[in-house]
Amino acid sequence: MASIEILKDKCIGCKKCVGSCPFGAIEIIDSKAVIGDKCTLCGSCVESCKLGAINFIKDELEYNDISEYKGIWVFAEQRFGKLKPVTLELVGQARKLAETLKVNVTAVLLGDNVKLLAKELIAYGADEILIMDTPWLKDFNDQVYGEIMVNLINDYKPEIVLIGATSNGRSLAPYISATIKTGLTADCTKLEIDNKEGILLQTRPAFGGNLMATIVCPHHRPQMATVRPKVFKPIEPNYLKSGKITYIPIPSSIDSYVKKIKDIDNLEGLSLSEADIIVSVGKGIGNVKNIELAKELAKVLGGTVGSSRPVVDSGWMPYSQQVGQTGKTVAPKLYIACGISGAIQHLAGLADIETIVAINIDPDAPIFNVAHYGIVGDCREVLPLLTKKIRASKKA
Ligand code: FAD
Ligand code: SF4
Ligand code: SF4
Repeated sequence: MASIEILKDKCIGCKKCVGSCPFGAIEIIDSKAVIGDKCTLCGSCVESCKLGAINFIKDELEYNDISEYKGIWVFAEQRFGKLKPVTLELVGQARKLAETLKVNVTAVLLGDNVKLLAKELIAYGADEILIMDTPWLKDFNDQVYGEIMVNLINDYKPEIVLIGATSNGRSLAPYISATIKTGLTADCTKLEIDNKEGILLQTRPAFGGNLMATIVCPHHRPQMATVRPKVFKPIEPNYLKSGKITYIPIPSSIDSYVKKIKDIDNLEGLSLSEADIIVSVGKGIGNVKNIELAKELAKVLGGTVGSSRPVVDSGWMPYSQQVGQTGKTVAPKLYIACGISGAIQHLAGLADIETIVAINIDPDAPIFNVAHYGIVGDCREVLPLLTKKIRASKKA
């Protein structure tokens, strides 16, 4: 266990260490430095004391034998017997990483009646499928799925494990990484292999999207990352490709502290991650009633409605429809931003979008810097006009 102490006989109370602590944990009391409860044992202050009065003892890191770990795994998330699109996106990206590492891509498929999905996973790039197919795996449960994944990882030792940053993936991945004691990088936007070291370079936005951080996990295995839907594109499927299918023996069912009460599918119409057209509303829409104007337009266009965070915070839209850094990443063909200012945290959720149309009363709104088409005007007036026009042109 790491520890820190001030060696009182060496400390002269010069205060140099005080400003070096990012947590404000050091005070000078009776001409001696004193470290208080705010200390997180980060070690930043050690270098500031040239008299060696700060005695910092680091944790001994335990490293596992990383040479035993080979291959790339993708957790094949499915619901009601249908693969989540992010699974195929990850299998395609894993394929590219595997070419560099010269290893296999394995998809791990857990569920009830899921055997038939193996063919699709192979077509989209997997070399091998590990299947555990049993009625008690019908519903996702992070503890049960997590225990199974942990056991499989300990048995098979993959060097990389990729999981979709869906609601389920976001609870499964940390369960696994914390149990196995390895690193996890959430919400990666880029995955590459370092050619020299052969390790996974996991890039994700940091500090509110103001810079991109590349994170590595050099001493522990597997290297784990979650990736949001639509960040990668799936590769062209090849249904003539063959692959190895391994059925994992079914253990006795695992008890969980989580019990399902009921299924809720709370999305109106299309899910945001899958929609080709999104009409998205921001605070500028004014009130909850006006969201109907966006819903009307989405309906005639065959799309769905998204929103900025303040709209969700106001309770006008469910969280499932929030676009942005703390919401969903979307990649529709058309994104219509209505009364959205274009804050960096909102733009962080816009992936590869062909056309962005912005409607805003403020001609200087930052959203116009990323929009392909801009309409300066009141969205409460513009939206019904657009709906009317599109309806008319459809009839014609
Ligand atoms: P505002 O910034 O209030 O902008 C409203 C816009 O509407 C203005 O540009 C205004 O000119 C225009 N307007 C006003 N009236 C009209 C009208 N009648 N017609 C047309 N235009 C009009 N935000 C997200 O969206 N998603 C996230 O995931 C997210 N995550 C965040 C995470 C963190 C850590 C932080 C700190 C913030 C996050 N935010 C997120 C919030 C973000 O910083 C912005 O505050 C938010 O995106 C602004 O939302 P908005 O554009 O709807 O509202
Ligand atoms: Fe004491 Fe060193 Fe801090 Fe100076 S820098 S107050 S000597 S601990
Ligand atoms: Fe502050 Fe870190 Fe030093 Fe603790 S170890 S006193 S948190 S700088």
